Parts: sequence; structure tokens; C-alpha cells
Amino acid sequence: MNTEGESPEDSADASPQDATPQEATVPAPAEANGQRCGLVAIVGKPNVGKSTLLNALVGQKISITSRKAQTTRHRITGVRTEGDTQFVFVDTPGFQTRHSSALNRSLNRAVTGVIGDVDVVLFVVEAGNFTLADAKVLSLLKPGIPAILVANKLDLVHRRGELAPWLRDMQQRHPFAEFMPVSAKQPKDILRVLEVCGKYLPAQPWWYEADELTDKSERFMAGEMIREKLFRLTGDELPYTSTVVIDKFEEEPSPKFKRMVRIAATVVVEREGHKAMVIGEGGEKMKRIGTEARTELEQLFDAKVFLQLFVKVRSGWADDEARVRSFGYE
Ligand code: GDP
Ligand code: MG
Repeated sequence: MNTEGESPEDSADASPQDATPQEATVPAPAEANGQRCGLVAIVGKPNVGKSTLLNALVGQKISITSRKAQTTRHRITGVRTEGDTQFVFVDTPGFQTRHSSALNRSLNRAVTGVIGDVDVVLFVVEAGNFTLADAKVLSLLKPGIPAILVANKLDLVHRRGELAPWLRDMQQRHPFAEFMPVSAKQPKDILRVLEVCGKYLPAQPWWYEADELTDKSERFMAGEMIREKLFRLTGDELPYTSTVVIDKFEEEPSPKFKRMVRIAATVVVEREGHKAMVIGEGGEKMKRIGTEARTELEQLFDAKVFLQLFVKVRSGWADDEARVRSFGYE
């Protein structure tokens, strides 16, 4: 009621019913109800433990049933709801690759945009280490977005005393909001990271149900995983108009495995030339896409995964379809 620029007299003149108890109980719109929710990016050079950390942070609750993911510029890699807080982890393409050439390429691309518009960044390094590759990633962090230094693989540091000067050195390099020496393999540390990270997420209603864990979400994740491998392994040439369609996603009982999932997916491309790009010499590229996607899906779903990949030219003939099996087992 007491808006800016109003004189004290004006406020005193405000109509008396404004102050009645009824008026006071009208709830504000878009109430967060104590909920917090926001975007978290995990960045760092290859092999520092980002995937391990992400998997541990997300736990079993891979929960993407909403298509809301598509409405933002972000590719969501996991959601964790803990207490009042919902953590939405987003992918930063380019950061998770093992190839430094791809890392360099990514420096000039959308990746910088992605980390420019999250609520908090987890910058992962190996505790006690800081190399040129770390510095390159660090240079992409945006001022104004809180960054938490996650000094991972603490279990490998034998002289803990040497960590204090190293942390002081890191403090000089970037105005980190927090410093967290952890081991991504230590559940206690993971809970601590969630707790600290949660402080940086805004008070707003959750975007997802607290407990979405369905076949549908796994099906969605399967498509995303294959898409990720597709673009990472074909490099820059494959246009983003190419898509992945999940044709089959079935969980089958198995006497041998705790869980068994059969997936068939089609990569749909625009041109014959793109198809060749996806298949690669003697089917080698397609095989790698399939193997890498399958390996990560097995980890994600905690299941044996059988994955069949097809590639198809969208506008082509019916017999344009090439079928390439994903090897690796059977
Ligand atoms: P990414 O390339 O950054 O995604 O790294 P990964 O998550 O694939 O991890 C790279 C390697 O480091 C793997 O062999 C992990 O098992 C290992 N690793 C990750 N976190 C830890 C940790 O806290 N302690 C130890 N000892 N190894 C770790
Ligand atoms: Mg990784």
C-alpha cells in the first residue's frame, strides 16, 4: 500500500478498509509456499568427475515427464527434489567431452549462453589441481552468477594440509561463493553439496512433481541421451534439424538381470549426406553412438539395456532406411 513517492499524509488518508483483517489475509499471487527451485550447471574440464557428481546429486530420481524442458534453452539432465528445494540440473554441451578439440570449439558457442542463465554453477576441479584446461573453463563463468568451487576427489589427496594454500590460490582466481572439498563418491558429501547449492536457488514454486519417476521419463531420457551422443560424435557438421525418435521402449522380465530394457530408436536426418555422416565408415560412427548411449543408459537406469538404432532420411524413399545394430554384446 505504501508505494514509493507517496507522502506520509497520502498513506494516512488511505481508505480505512485497506487495513481490515480481511484485506490482510488475501494471499499474494504466485506464492512459493516455502518452495525453492532453480537451474544448476555442472562445469569443469573432462575427467574431473562431473558425471559422477551429477549421477550422485540426482540419485535415482531422474524425473523428466514434463515437456517444459523444451520450452527453455536448456537440456535438463536430472531433477532432484530434497526437502523444500527442487534442483534442476542442466547440460552444458561441450564441457563433458573428453576431446580437447571439442572443448575448444565449445568455447565459442552456445555453452557460454547456457551458463550465463542458470542460478548457480558448480565448477568442478580435482582437489589440489588447477591446469590450463581448468582455467579455460573458469574463464567462461559469468560474473553475477554464483559459482561454487567443488574440489572433487578429495579421497585422493593424501596431504590435506596442502589443500589450504591451494584453496587460497583458488580464491584469488575467481570470486567463488563457496569452497567445497568433496568426494563425489561419498554420500555425505553429496548431501552437503545439495544443502549449500540450495541456498542459491530462488524461492519459487517447483517446476516438476516431487516424485516423477516413470517409464515415460526414462523413454524421454533415452531419446536425449542418443541425441547427445549423435551430436557429440558427428561434430559440427550435422544440422540440428536432425532428430531422434524412440520407436520402442519396453521393460522385459529377465531371469538374468535385475532390470532389462529394450529400446529401438531412429535418427531422422534431412539428407542422404547426413545419413552417411551418422553411419560413418563401415557403420563405425553409428556403432559408437549406440554403444556410448547404451553404456550411459545402463548406468542411468540401473538396467541391462538392449539398444537398436536406425537412421532414416526424412524426405526420402521408404527403402532409404538403413539399419545398423549397436554391437557390444548379445
Ligand atoms: P567427467 O568427465 O568430468 O564427467 O568425469 P567422470 O564423472 O566420468 O569421472 C572421471 C573419473 O574420475 C571416473 O573414473 C570416476 O570414477 C572418477 N571419480 C569421480 N569422482 C571421484 C572421486 O570423488 N574420487 C575418486 N577417487 N574418483 C572419482
Ligand atoms: Mg562426463
